[in-house]
Amino acid sequence: MTTRGVVYAEPDARPAVEEITLDPPGPHEVQVRVEACGVCHSDLHVVETRGWGLRFPILLGHEGAGIVEEVGEGVTTVAPGDRVVIAWRAPCGDACPACLRGDPRRCSNNLRARRRLHRASDGALLAPVLRCGCFADRAIVHEACAVKVPEELPVEQACLLACGFSTGAGAALWATPVRPGSSVAVIGCGGVGLAVVQGARLAGAERIVAVDVAAPKLEHALALGATDTVDASAGDPVAQVRELTGGTGVEFAFSAIGAAAGLAQAVRMCAFAGVATMVGVPSPGARLDVDLDSELFMPHVSLAVTHGGDTIPQQDFPFLAQAALDGKLDLARFVTSTIALEDVPDRLERLGQDGEIRAVAVL
Ligand SMILES: [Zn+2]
Ligand SMILES: [Zn+2]
Repeated sequence: MTTRGVVYAEPDARPAVEEITLDPPGPHEVQVRVEACGVCHSDLHVVETRGWGLRFPILLGHEGAGIVEEVGEGVTTVAPGDRVVIAWRAPCGDACPACLRGDPRRCSNNLRARRRLHRASDGALLAPVLRCGCFADRAIVHEACAVKVPEELPVEQACLLACGFSTGAGAALWATPVRPGSSVAVIGCGGVGLAVVQGARLAGAERIVAVDVAAPKLEHALALGATDTVDASAGDPVAQVRELTGGTGVEFAFSAIGAAAGLAQAVRMCAFAGVATMVGVPSPGARLDVDLDSELFMPHVSLAVTHGGDTIPQQDFPFLAQAALDGKLDLARFVTSTIALEDVPDRLERLGQDGEIRAVAVL
């Protein structure tokens, strides 16, 4: 079968739509006809880091949803015709220390399909980003990564559950669970940060302070559940958050930007015994500048890291989808434009500009 996909062929090449071929799905693998895939920052990160450690050629896209088209031997969880969100996390269940102690949210051994897609031009095996490769008409993933969700949820919204939305919401709901009635700060109100705002609201936070330098993003944050905003371009955001909270700081601070300064600010915004959570993917070599005595130990601040919101996709994605259908989450607001697959390389280069939250490629 020949299809199309966005291929990043070599370190200095610009990603481009190419013809690709695929082998049939193997045991416990599922072939999905991709219907939608969001343009997430991690795909740009792959280009900016010249491959993010993957072998070239690389197939981009990891925030996809679609319809199961074919299943391999032994697949029992989904059937052709099912609408699925393609997860890049799929806890192994029984083969890593975290899963063995009953904590699959910290699995270090995610299940994956074999690589089955090739460049049509030379037959080279493609490395799909985060085992997904969803900027393509077809994806082949492990059945554990194909998460059934209700068809009533529009597919361009459903795909956001695959990465950006579940990463942000999951950070507040599951990675470092926000307590009802607590205070929260979110640094960086792009797609992931705004999803932290939504997760914190769903968790019952009383105060949610959104921090960004861009006014349009702060407006989105207010519409999505933030109770206060801090314009970081107008002065030290830490001082502003402290002032808003009567000098005490917040119980939970999330850094949804990759820059180390964001995490340092999160630490400094914390109240006594607060938790600073690192949600954004950092640049290689970035270092944290925090005074261990006065800013971490004495105020008893904890530092936490989350990968993708530490979700268990098979249980959390349907939960989030239902919450969206029930009107408790506003996924629709996150989709600020829909584009064609051909437009993906261009959009990657303009990511986060023009007040965009998410551009979603609809195939
Ligand atoms: Zn595991
Ligand atoms: Zn992503």
